[in-house]
Amino acid sequence: MTVIIDGKALRDKLLEQLKLKVDKFEIKPKLVVILVGDNPASLIYVNNKKKTAEKLGIDSEIINYPSNIQEQVLLDKIVELNNDATVTAILVQLPLPEHISKFKVINTISPNKDVDGFTPENFGMLFAGEEPYVYPCTPKGILLMLDEYNIDVDGRHVVIVGRSNIVGKPLSQMLLNRNATVTVCHSHTKNLADITKTADVLISAVGGKIIGENFVKPNSVVIDVGIFKDENGKTRGDVDFEKVAPQTSFITPVPGGVGPMTIASLMLNTVELFEKIRS
Ligand code: NAP
Repeated sequence: MTVIIDGKALRDKLLEQLKLKVDKFEIKPKLVVILVGDNPASLIYVNNKKKTAEKLGIDSEIINYPSNIQEQVLLDKIVELNNDATVTAILVQLPLPEHISKFKVINTISPNKDVDGFTPENFGMLFAGEEPYVYPCTPKGILLMLDEYNIDVDGRHVVIVGRSNIVGKPLSQMLLNRNATVTVCHSHTKNLADITKTADVLISAVGGKIIGENFVKPNSVVIDVGIFKDENGKTRGDVDFEKVAPQTSFITPVPGGVGPMTIASLMLNTVELFEKIRS
């Protein structure tokens, strides 16, 4: 029988626990989200982050710059936030306009306020097998889901499709740390289905309809990170859910799987940074 992993229920449970913790803080964590431009999807994401933070009693602020802002203005603002003791977590919403160096911007955030875990120091710690201040949100959310459903990856073959800095790369390292055997595939991978069919756990983070019924091993676990709108404007994931789900032991839906867990992880990271700064 297939178990459909319920990301919303787990998110709600984690946020409830977190709220009880935040209620006890005399001084509250503060998350500042910087948004450059008016990309509609980014606007929705940052507003959701603010709303969720507020529900938990976490202070939050959105700083919205026009898309033609000079890079230096953004860098100066980040330095100011780094030096502001009331700010405990900083997030720069990606993507950034082309004239701004994503690397420079991320590299300017203090690693102990880097709520996404994307700074070179936090990334480097992760890849060196050391503990970063926090782990990147989407991979962290995926591991929390695996834990909730008692899915052990030790010694199992995990295939990740997608090698981005926000999902595939950090996730591969986090799974290696759990003794999984990890294969990372990408757009140059040949005979993708031959590889994905060997996965005990298949995680797809592409953003296109790519994982069909012939891509999975019977009784495997399938985690769908992808989100995009199909030709009818419907939100969907990388996996052909109807055809693939019956072959799996566990599968995440889209929406309602990984997405809610990413926001839960962001809130967990905000509180973890606050506790580390104050300890
Ligand atoms: P990205 O930076 O665009 O990376 C996509 C990855 O997919 C790349 O590594 C690319 O390979 C690979 N790819 C593209 N076409 C492929 C193909 N035909 N076969 C195999 N691999 C292929 O995307 P991202 O930021 O990681 O996001 C991926 C998806 O996850 C998007 O739909 C995004 O919206 C979603 N997402 C969801 C959440 C969530 O919370 N649910 C969070 C983050 C992202 P190359 O490296 O060779 O180009």
